[in-house]
Amino acid sequence: MPAKTNSGMGTFKDPIPSPPLTTSIEGRYMSLTTYKKKRNFARTSEPAGKKKKSAHELIFVVQEHSATNLHYDFRLEMDGVLKSWAVPKGPSMNPEDKRLAMKVEDHPYDYKDFEGTIPEGEYGAGNVIVWDTGPYHSIESEDPKESEKALLLGLKKGHISFIVEGKKLKGEFALVQMKGRGENAWLLIKKGDKYASDKDILAKKRSVLTGKALKMRKKNEKTGPKRRTAPKN
Ligand code: MN
Repeated sequence: MPAKTNSGMGTFKDPIPSPPLTTSIEGRYMSLTTYKKKRNFARTSEPAGKKKKSAHELIFVVQEHSATNLHYDFRLEMDGVLKSWAVPKGPSMNPEDKRLAMKVEDHPYDYKDFEGTIPEGEYGAGNVIVWDTGPYHSIESEDPKESEKALLLGLKKGHISFIVEGKKLKGEFALVQMKGRGENAWLLIKKGDKYASDKDILAKKRSVLTGKALKMRKKNEKTGPKRRTAPKN
């Protein structure tokens, strides 16, 4: 697949260095291949998706997903895709909580609006709602291009600091790659700011898009084609 998007990198001058070329190659050529490989788009209503970008601001989205295990998928728009982490316990507004966030395959930009049911037998079978979404930017810059460069660099370095403006999540968060736990284990941590709180943000259950609450996956729905043995969700 040819590089469709330039993602604005390398076309302007500033103090933040561009990530090395390998990041761009991964981002432009390999991104979404894993996502597509895992899914049968004749069966699932998830978007097949192409690389695409927000017009003005980068967006984040958190989807609550009742799959084999209930979890929250935390996604950050970067380089025309949604960089994604599965957070078993969900995000917290308490800086003392360090929530395990397992890096998963990039998802297409159009996944930001996906709500519904992934059929039994398909990868990630279960129900999905958009638990929160809104614009976000790196702590380094509010300018989308500058911000994206800093975010991609942070992703490569294993430490991303960013500010979200969601309906539920607000303020600064960090995603920090853990040492010695394999490359996919990260921690999602709220930073101490005026939005930090020990209130349970997950008590706000409804979709910010439709107002729907998440349906749990019914155990008796576990039929259909043989489940794949690939890592869950
Ligand atoms: Mn998931």
